[in-house]
Amino acid sequence: MRPLSAAELLDTWEQGLSGPACTRALVLLAAASPDVSHDAVATLSVGERDRRLLTLREWTFGSQLASVANCSACGERLEWIFNVADLRVPEQPQLSGDLSLQLDRYCVSFRLPNTLDLAAVAGSHDAESAGRLLLEKCVLEARCDDQTISINEMPAEVTDAVVKQMAEADPQADLRLDLSCPACAHRWQALFDIESFFWSEINAWAQRVLTEVHTLASTYGWREKDILDLSPRRRQFYLGLVGA
Ligand SMILES: [Zn+2]
Repeated sequence: MRPLSAAELLDTWEQGLSGPACTRALVLLAAASPDVSHDAVATLSVGERDRRLLTLREWTFGSQLASVANCSACGERLEWIFNVADLRVPEQPQLSGDLSLQLDRYCVSFRLPNTLDLAAVAGSHDAESAGRLLLEKCVLEARCDDQTISINEMPAEVTDAVVKQMAEADPQADLRLDLSCPACAHRWQALFDIESFFWSEINAWAQRVLTEVHTLASTYGWREKDILDLSPRRRQFYLGLVGA
């Protein structure tokens, strides 16, 4: 994987806008990993995908992530700042290869969910049907004693154990921020989705950069490519000269 230039990031942003939101991570990682096949990126576990997205985010906008949240107890608006290093879960050695679970008379082999699975369940009506469809995609074989059984024949405690083991094997996929409220000292955990966080930053960046291109192109007659090839510092310098 390598960092993206301004022109590449802008191309990626445009490409991502035309597809469903759940494939934006793939568009970004495929652009940054030209030597890796699209299939290989698409079938990374969600946690491994998100770990790579964090790295790409760090290369693109730096190691600090900042946003705002509302306290779930008193509603106070608070700003939070985290470093990418704080959000990176150590790599799990069992990520390669399939997983299996033995519980009472049941034996289940399964794999971790990937981006294609998430895209497949994105249109589900509710969380329950999404969860069931995800299990159908990821369970490779389920047996009760010597009989092969379907997902629907698995008891709830077996499916719960499979879901729990999936989460434990790929903790980067389910990242939570520890937040505390300065007003009422309430502490809670908030889900953090690097895909949507990074995408909204790219979206804001693209709007700003295109405005800068417009200003410099209108003033100097430079081509878009030449303006994007300028370092951000030089671009800002020229923008300062034209009073933008
Ligand atoms: Zn509070």
